Amino acid sequence: MSRGMPAAGRLDELAGERGIELVHDRPLAPLTTLRVGGPAQRFVEVSDRAALLAALRLARDAGAPAFVLGNGSDLVVSDEGMPGLVVRNRARGVAIEGTQLTADAGAPMALLVKRCTAEGLAGLEFGISVPGTLGGAVWANAGAHGGEIKDLLVGAEAWDPAGDTELTLAHADCAFAYRESRFKHGDEVVLAATLQLERDDPAAIGERVDANQAQRRATQPLADQNAGSVFRNPPGDHAGRLIDVAGLKGRRVGSAMVSTLHANFIVVDRGGRAADVRALGNEVRALVQERFGVMLQYEIEFVGHWPEPEAGSGPPGERA
Ligand SMILES: Cc1cc2nc3c(=O)[nH]c(=O)nc-3n(C[C@H](O)[C@H](O)[C@H](O)COP(=O)(O)OP(=O)(O)OC[C@H]3O[C@@H](n4cnc5c(N)ncnc54)[C@H](O)[C@@H]3O)c2cc1C
Repeated sequence: MSRGMPAAGRLDELAGERGIELVHDRPLAPLTTLRVGGPAQRFVEVSDRAALLAALRLARDAGAPAFVLGNGSDLVVSDEGMPGLVVRNRARGVAIEGTQLTADAGAPMALLVKRCTAEGLAGLEFGISVPGTLGGAVWANAGAHGGEIKDLLVGAEAWDPAGDTELTLAHADCAFAYRESRFKHGDEVVLAATLQLERDDPAAIGERVDANQAQRRATQPLADQNAGSVFRNPPGDHAGRLIDVAGLKGRRVGSAMVSTLHANFIVVDRGGRAADVRALGNEVRALVQERFGVMLQYEIEFVGHWPEPEAGSGPPGERA
């Protein structure tokens, strides 16, 4: 057992009783787009809501931390890995009724965009640029090309570990703001969400999807290991512009480098280290603060165990 990892005996015991098979020390790097970081102490992959709830209840009853992993496209997993149980959500059922689409939280955004295009349902074209799951997109209020999940979401179903209850949430309950939702501030898990779309010609929708994809291919280092935008845009400005003007494109700490194509991306060498990403991110933050007096806020999420950040330079909102 490594430093900072609680014993997983109770998890194993309960999992045995309930017939849930847990993987020990599952490497998480291949399950994230940044491809750095250590293993999950215990890991299970689920493909439907019942299995997701069973896994979450297992961790709850064992008193172990649980972490729901979507497509790992917004994460920096610490080199030491994650304690407790990591549940990879691959529940991806989709139902369409009229102009409303309801999908399990594990459904990939790309899959939903494809379905919408085929069905002649417009509104989610921006989602082609968000390489995560619907649950991750609701958690982040993900957005691109002027659209955000909050513009479409009618309601969500969630699970609250506090009372082991399933919640039905309306749009107003979700506390959406720029890259913000209630799910970033608690332990509730999104199970499914319903989106309101509009009828349009499938060919026209497809063209908009292709245009969004082409724009991203031209402006983002998609061939490199990355986790999307590192920092949120400060009010009235762009984090990438500030980092660029500060002359930080190409700056390196070990295996991590500020992308030369898009200054708000950090790209990592094969076999790179999460600690390098963290150190480079903190360095960029400090230098932008020094130059412009703006303290950038992380958009990417640091998870797992990290040594104490230096005063004033650590990322807010990180979770163990
Ligand atoms: C190349 C690239 C481009 C990107 N472009 C954009 C962009 O344009 N706009 C944008 O907003 N983002 C962008 N991102 C970031 C990322 O894709 C989004 O934040 C996405 O919504 C994360 O979803 P995920 O499934 O990958 O979540 P993960 O990275 O797996 O998890 C992120 C967080 O969401 C939580 N989570 C996941 N599922 C659930 C659930 N069911 N219930 C509760 N919490 C959950 C996790 O516990 C974790 O805390 C980009 C990323 C990359 C790599």
